[in-house]
Amino acid sequence: MSSITHPNPYASWETRGFWEGAGRDQLVLQKCNTCGLIQHRPRGVCAHCLDSSSLVHFVASGRGSIYSYTVTEQNQAKGFAEACPYTMAYVTLDEGPRLLTVIVDCEPDAVEIGMSVVADFVSQERDDDERFAIPVFRLA
Ligand SMILES: [Zn+2]
Repeated sequence: MSSITHPNPYASWETRGFWEGAGRDQLVLQKCNTCGLIQHRPRGVCAHCLDSSSLVHFVASGRGSIYSYTVTEQNQAKGFAEACPYTMAYVTLDEGPRLLTVIVDCEPDAVEIGMSVVADFVSQERDDDERFAIPVFRLA
């Protein structure tokens, strides 16, 4: 089983905290201090109350459970073709948000809905000074 070679992420002003956190092996989410919503994907405003002034980043537990998954048998995209079959999943984080990710280091038929998973991070080689990583998950 080969690993996916992920494309390098681009960090916008909204996503920079998430990618930089992953580069430190931390899963970083946003919390709205006005209404309490914890959100992912990173945004410039709260998805619930639309407040843009009270969003803070915090380091999440990196723990969650598999909400749903699919096994990708074919993908011709560069970096993904060699990794087939691989398991893509929505993980419900312990903090609430769901994250689309890849389940690594297990055979696809070992994955079941509801299984506990924990985040891991795939460092990205870059030709700039950024230090990013891709969050993936493995069975806990
Ligand atoms: Zn809010």
